[in-house]
Amino acid sequence: MNQIGDIVFWNQKFTRADQAFVSVCSHSFQYGTSVFEGIRSYETAAGARLFKVRDHYKRFLHAAKSVGFEVSYTLEQLVELSYELLRRNNLTDAFIKPLLISEPDPQLMPAEKSVLCLMVTEWIPELASRPSSLGISKIQRPDPASLIQDAKISGQYIHSLMAASEAGKRGFDDAVLLDNNGYVAEASTANIFFEKDDVLYTPPCGNILPGITRQTIIDLARELDISLSERFITPEFMLEADSAFLTSTSLEVCPVERIENHILSIQWEDSAGYMLAEKYKKLTTERDNFHFTVI
Ligand code: PMP
Repeated sequence: MNQIGDIVFWNQKFTRADQAFVSVCSHSFQYGTSVFEGIRSYETAAGARLFKVRDHYKRFLHAAKSVGFEVSYTLEQLVELSYELLRRNNLTDAFIKPLLISEPDPQLMPAEKSVLCLMVTEWIPELASRPSSLGISKIQRPDPASLIQDAKISGQYIHSLMAASEAGKRGFDDAVLLDNNGYVAEASTANIFFEKDDVLYTPPCGNILPGITRQTIIDLARELDISLSERFITPEFMLEADSAFLTSTSLEVCPVERIENHILSIQWEDSAGYMLAEKYKKLTTERDNFHFTVI
């Protein structure tokens, strides 16, 4: 990904990125209690459009509540500030990362007051990673009783980072993590779908981050009459899949060519994933007539 834009929103105002500092006493720095999102902006005929921006900010505000943060911005203000950030950095094709961190407080109990940071990077497709091989990680996703599943909380990403790094050392592009019952959950920072005998399968919510792209793909599959089942998936079933793909805001719909040493048999262009990827592209750039709300 590219360098962050010159202007960030930090501590209630737009300021130069090199003027935004975090205190070493921030609870977020010491214990990982910041919450974040990742939102894609696309260039459309009508200008910059933040795809599903309200869904992202709903999840963001939910994450803030989960760690006990007070947030002094409404969802609509967050949307407005995000468009203003794009304008101030003169960007349309971009990736916005909103972050809430706690005010300095070295106590073990999280501080309630939060500071909002919005940063943006220009989107350069060539710099975006496109994982095509997955290694099955020995690191499992934690028990849902110990992990807030439906929120992006920084400290909870340690297992994702370790799994991705371990898979990288074994020569894979990314890791696929199992849940605490041994079923397939998701990749390090993306949801996963499999195709087998013309049906798509994806793990149900419960021990995955319920991705906004995942839900969009489920909606598109319905629209296109593609059979789809949300169910628990064993590693054995995964290794017999005809094709597979990952979904996330940054990867969009990303084909998987290999899982461990199993090569997926259907050519990407012949798979349901490819059809969905094409529809997704049109939807995000508003080049299709779907009835979905984009902003
Ligand atoms: N799972 C995890 C763990 C993630 O961090 C993400 C976001 N990068 C996703 C799935 C995909 O979510 P979304 O489609 O909302 O980007």
